[in-house]
Amino acid sequence: MSPTGKVYLIGAGPGDPGLVTVRARQLIELADVIVYDYLANPKLLDWAKPEAERIYVGKSAGRHSIPQDEIEEVLVTHAKKGRQVVRLKGGDPFVFGRGGEEIQELETDQIPYEIVPGVTAALATAAYAGIPLSHRDYSSAITFLTGHENPEKHTLSIDFADYAKTKGTLCIYMGIGQLSRITNDLRKGGMSGDMPVGVIEWATLNRQRSVFSTLDSVIQDVEKSNLGAPAIIVIGEVVAQRAKAKWFEGRPLFGRRIVVTRAREQAGQLTEMLQAQGAEVIELPFISVEPHFDQTIVSEVLAGIAVYEWIIFTSANGVKNFFDLFYKAYDDIRCLGPMRIAAVGAATAQEIEKHRLKVDLIPKKANADALAEELIENEGIDSVQILVVTGNQNRESLVERLESDEGRAIVDTLPVYRTSKNDLTDHPAAERYRKEGADAILFTSSSTVKSFVDQAAALSLEANARKPALGSIGPLTSKTLGEKQLPVAFESSRASLDHFVVETISHLNSSDNSKKSS
Ligand code: SAH
Repeated sequence: MSPTGKVYLIGAGPGDPGLVTVRARQLIELADVIVYDYLANPKLLDWAKPEAERIYVGKSAGRHSIPQDEIEEVLVTHAKKGRQVVRLKGGDPFVFGRGGEEIQELETDQIPYEIVPGVTAALATAAYAGIPLSHRDYSSAITFLTGHENPEKHTLSIDFADYAKTKGTLCIYMGIGQLSRITNDLRKGGMSGDMPVGVIEWATLNRQRSVFSTLDSVIQDVEKSNLGAPAIIVIGEVVAQRAKAKWFEGRPLFGRRIVVTRAREQAGQLTEMLQAQGAEVIELPFISVEPHFDQTIVSEVLAGIAVYEWIIFTSANGVKNFFDLFYKAYDDIRCLGPMRIAAVGAATAQEIEKHRLKVDLIPKKANADALAEELIENEGIDSVQILVVTGNQNRESLVERLESDEGRAIVDTLPVYRTSKNDLTDHPAAERYRKEGADAILFTSSSTVKSFVDQAAALSLEANARKPALGSIGPLTSKTLGEKQLPVAFESSRASLDHFVVETISHLNSSDNSKKSS
């Protein structure tokens, strides 16, 4: 490690994690410390090493952001300890981001640094709202301005009248709180009241909203739609030239908020599918899954791993946690031995195949009983040594069947993870749900219904929150919802995530439900 670390001043882009540079991602992956603020999407931190220190310096409820000189001190202190420090700033670090001040401080302290540009909000806003910022017939200049609504900033305030006659496009950052001063000054400077204006809030995220208006009506229109910071105001003839097809806001689930109720580690796939259709997703992590094992048992089993003729995995989590332990003990996949491999269902098998291992048996019905039955009937397991890899929710009936007179196998069980209930009371996702509600909650199993009911107190909606429709992945889940007196608004025609998403779109867009609330 070098005696002094380095600071990487990185543009975190406008929000959508897909809009950061490849360089930014590489550096986040390598960082020892990540200092980030309000507009840098916290999802970017998922790329960091688990042990990387994460320091939030933005504002949060009831608290101002950390003063600039303290942030600079944090950067310097960590770099001096030899760490690789990533400073993530929303958009681009040198566009209204005080990047210049941070660099000066680093130079004073002789800390090496690197700067990675980012997609600044004005460009992102234009792209995601379909506004061409320049246009051969309408605009040959683009100006970035700050309305400097933030009282903590000590920069000079602008006289907007000076910009009324640029005949170009004005992109105003931090202007929404200053809208009346800005529009008055522009009119004073000679800009026509008919000049097209667009205001885009939370651009590039699935909560993006936009209002299109004119210089004269924009204040009223923004108030009506209750738009707030962060937003970019775009003023100029080009706003009227915007694309007709709303490629971003026009997606089928755009403007919809949907709750997904799976364990944190498994929610990813459904969440991604819904987000791709434009939905904003709240993941309520009712249960969490974490590695959990008895080291003595693990050591014994792994030392004798080659004696088993079958290894059975009952879940994808089991596979993941098993191989984490296996690779700690061995650095060669052949140490697994010539055993055969069974998986309880397709998702489990997929996780095994990631290790380039073929799965020899997946039962026709994806459950543990069917697996036991097929092993007993088709494979003959009398006196055969079998390893069952599980979590803490015991698979006693599977093991009992394999060991029973029907099977007569010699079974060892290896628990490698633990599933536990989370209390959601103080979880930010639950807080968001209580406050804002959702258009739909998607239940993917009976156990998610039960967890939902268990956590009723943490999930009671405030008066103005949207009331969600309850969606069920299939008849069993619907039955559980019925038993709990929860009305099922729609049910997937087949128990697959694809069908569930299609059903959700068609329910929310059916005539009764087509009105999107704010
Ligand atoms: N360095 C940032 C700007 C920081 S100033 C950049 O290059 O984008 C903060 C202002 O940026 C906000 O008040 C808002 O005007 C704008 N902004 C940042 N992200 C935004 C987003 N996703 N949508 C709309 N405006 C955004």
